[in-house]
This record gives sequence, C-alpha cells and structure tokens, in this order.
Amino acid sequence: MNSKNGPKPKLSDYRKILEAKAEEVRRSMSAQKAAQVVARLDIPSDEGDLSQQHHEEWIFLNRNSIDMKLLREIADALHRLDQDHYGICLECEEPISAKRLDAVPWARYCVTCQEQIAARIADGELVDEYQEADK
Ligand SMILES: [Zn+2]
Repeated sequence: MNSKNGPKPKLSDYRKILEAKAEEVRRSMSAQKAAQVVARLDIPSDEGDLSQQHHEEWIFLNRNSIDMKLLREIADALHRLDQDHYGICLECEEPISAKRLDAVPWARYCVTCQEQIAARIADGELVDEYQEADK
C-alpha cells in the first residue's frame, strides 16, 4: 500500500489538523453544555416544565451526538495514523486523494466508495453509522 505517485501526504500535518479539530469540537461541546446549565438555572423546575426540559435535553443530546460522532471519527483517523493506515480507503484499500483528505481529514473512504455507501444508506441497505459527519 505505497503511494505510487505524487508527493506523500504530510502525515504530521494531518495529525495536527485532526488534533486541532478534536480540540475545537470538545470546546464547542463544553460551551454548549455550559450554556445549557446557565439556561437551566432560570427554569423553575416544577412538573409542567418537565416535558419542555426533556425536549431541550433531546435537542442538546442530539446535537452532542453529532459532535460525539465527529470526535469518534477523528479519534479513528488518529488511530489509523498511528497504525500507518491513514489515507487508505477502508472499503477498496486504495489511497484516498490528498484533495479529499484536505477537505475531510478524517475521511474513511475514497470519494467513489463514500458515494456508494451514501447510496446504500439512501436505499436503506445500511444504517448511517457509515456516513461521515458533515463538519
Ligand atoms: Zn474506496
């Protein structure tokens, strides 16, 4: 699995980008959490507010789960860097283009495979576990 042509991707650069992105996501998650806690203080906590509170919690968790997914994808990418598998499509094992890695440094699949997987998700053949976080 050598990259035959073109300059070798600068793996240390991707590591830096991935680590910076993970930090950014973590920071935004804790900022959201802090905002949520502050908002919560103003809400009188009688029974009537409970469903509203649950609704807000659901939105919060939902947003958070997108961030969690992204964090997991970044962690996976960093793991692949450690294992020397970074930038290799998990589906067809071809190198992922540098252009794609620049756009989505945690990409697991090449463009072709990603599109096929997205199509299979759209057809209901796959759950969106395989879809990459769009961030
Ligand atoms: Zn592929």
